[in-house]
Amino acid sequence: MLVDEKEIKKEKRDIPYGVAHEVEKDMSSWRTHKPVIDYTKCIKCLTCWIGCPDFAYEVKKDFPVIRNENCKGCGICAEHCPVKCIKMVRDFHGKKD
Ligand code: SF4
Ligand code: SF4
Repeated sequence: MLVDEKEIKKEKRDIPYGVAHEVEKDMSSWRTHKPVIDYTKCIKCLTCWIGCPDFAYEVKKDFPVIRNENCKGCGICAEHCPVKCIKMVRDFHGKKD
């Protein structure tokens, strides 16, 4: 076997968000919507982590976790999730409608 599957599994468990895209400011203030993941349906494919243009996902125990301050609310992750378990919901930034 060329690849050690155990090593791959171990490495996949915790993946940091994109280190090339450290943010100094909270970029979430301009968004109108934010992604919410239904973890009961998530198949851990990490399409969202791969596709997010703002590196707003990190991976913990194989599951994608959104870094709120990096997310601009573009909705690309929700569009590409193969099982449609990411829903874009209105973001009121702590204020009422
Ligand atoms: S794309 Fe959807 S199914 Fe895949 S890891 Fe992300 S939330 Fe889970
Ligand atoms: S909504 Fe856009 S910026 Fe936010 S996590 Fe999804 S792909 Fe990334």
